[in-house]
Amino acid sequence: MEKPEILKAAQAELQRHVWGTYIHQGVSIALGGHGIITPGCEVCCKRINTNGQYLRHLAEDVLPGILERALASVDTQGPKA
Ligand SMILES: [Zn+2]
Repeated sequence: MEKPEILKAAQAELQRHVWGTYIHQGVSIALGGHGIITPGCEVCCKRINTNGQYLRHLAEDVLPGILERALASVDTQGPKA
């Protein structure tokens, strides 16, 4: 993968991790369940209350996966001539 493609893929992955709300533990109360609307990452369903926690989630949970995939694509292509 070339650098622009790696950057685009990394940006897309980061942008998936929206700090919004998700339903914790089942169906929401609005739909007859007992789930609670919880602030956090909508993709990971991880509770996040502060901007610092959100940045830590991106740095510690999301970024390692992005780098692993990017570096794996570089490893399989080998060095450029
Ligand atoms: Zn996330």
